[in-house]
Parts: sequence; structure tokens; C-alpha cells
Amino acid sequence: MVPREMQDDQNLAFMDQAVVMAEEALAAREIPVGCVLVHDGKVVARGRNRTNEGRNATLHAEFDALRHLLPDRSHAQTPGLTRPYTPQAEDVIAAAAEKEGPVARGRKIWQTPLKGVVLYVTVEPCLMCASAMRQVGIEKVVYGCANDRFGGTGGVQSIHSDPRLLYAPPYPAVGGYRREEAIMLLRRFYISENSTAPKPKKKSNRVLKTEIPGVVSTPSSPASSLSRTSTPALYPEPTSAPVNLPPPVPAV
Ligand SMILES: [Zn+2]
Repeated sequence: MVPREMQDDQNLAFMDQAVVMAEEALAAREIPVGCVLVHDGKVVARGRNRTNEGRNATLHAEFDALRHLLPDRSHAQTPGLTRPYTPQAEDVIAAAAEKEGPVARGRKIWQTPLKGVVLYVTVEPCLMCASAMRQVGIEKVVYGCANDRFGGTGGVQSIHSDPRLLYAPPYPAVGGYRREEAIMLLRRFYISENSTAPKPKKKSNRVLKTEIPGVVSTPSSPASSLSRTSTPALYPEPTSAPVNLPPPVPAV
């Protein structure tokens, strides 16, 4: 985790835009995770969790944003969902494809069309998304709070930096940007009823906690050189009434 005093304004500004997307997800009664993809100092795609909306367990914020950059978006469209077309995205892909070398660690790798593209996401990418980001050659990931249940950049596995994965270059991942905001969004979601749960739980006894635990250093993710938080951010902490988590899919 990057301490607050070492976080620069530009990264925070982009994370603010990711937070806006997470707030949009919360308003849509999705697990609130949002992200933006940035290239050359500009946002080239935005995304938010849409797993309920799309009835699609893979529609995490990262995939929602990523599909804006796909060369052929026809394969990525979900009926009923609107997404803005970002013409500059194809320029990004074309420019990166020309510059990118095909060799890493002595082995031929896939092209990395997202070279130079940085992902800002409010919650550490899950195992699926961390792998996807590596496969598309993301330049870097900046996240808010850690994901101790599903995290793929150190939370559970270090897919972003695992040297055994030779199919794509590793990428750095740093966290802590707007961490408190990211955690509070998740808490606000989990304290309310999830209308998609098979048996919606009553929220009468739930209390929204506002205290954010500090960041602690642990040796759990030496590969990522990151210290982790002490609190799983994706799940509510015990309250006066136990909360059975309802997610139909383990989003984020
Ligand atoms: Zn994910």
C-alpha cells in the first residue's frame, strides 16, 4: 500500500473518476467497484461492476472497461447495456502494437496492445481480472482497497508478478489510493439489502461502520512488494446481527 502522503495528485484524480464509477454501481445496486483505463494522461475507458445487470459473473468493472478497448466490440456486447464508444481506443491499440516487442524472458509472447495503459480500480482486481490484465499487457494497476478474498495482485495470489507465468510480462500493482472511499462504498452496499439474493436479509439491525482500520505490513505478498490491509474489504464485518452474504456471484 502506498501511504497517503506519497500518493500524487494525478493518480488520486484518476482514482476519483474510478470512485465515481463505483458510486454509479452502488446506485444501480451492484457491488460498488469502478475503474478507468488511462493512456497518455487521458481516460480512454470507464467501467463498473455489472454482474447483476448483465446476469454475467464476468462483468466485473475491469471487463466492463476493457471491452471498450477491444478491436471488435461485437463479441463483447450484452443486450440492453449501453456503453459509450471511445474512438481513441483503437488508436491506442494500433500505436502500441507497432511499438511493442514480441519477446520477453526469451520466449515469444502475445502482443501487448494495452502497453502504456494504466488501470485505476477502486478494489484490488480479483484473480480473474488480474490475469486478464496481464494477458492484455496492461502497463500498471493502481487500486484502492485490498481484496483479501479474491485479490489477484497480492491479496490471494500474485498473478500480476508471478514469474512462472510466461505468457505475458508482469505488471506493477500499487494500492491505497482512495482506500477509505472504496471500503465505505462496499460497506454501504452490504449494509443494504441485496435485491437479487434468494432470501433478502433484513437490515434493521445493521450498523454502518465508519472506522477504517489502518494498513499493516505483512509478509503475505512478497512478490508484489505490497503490504496488505488487516481487513477483508469485500465483506461486512460482524455486526449485532450476522449478515449472510448474498452475492449470486463473487464479484470483484
Ligand atoms: Zn474481477
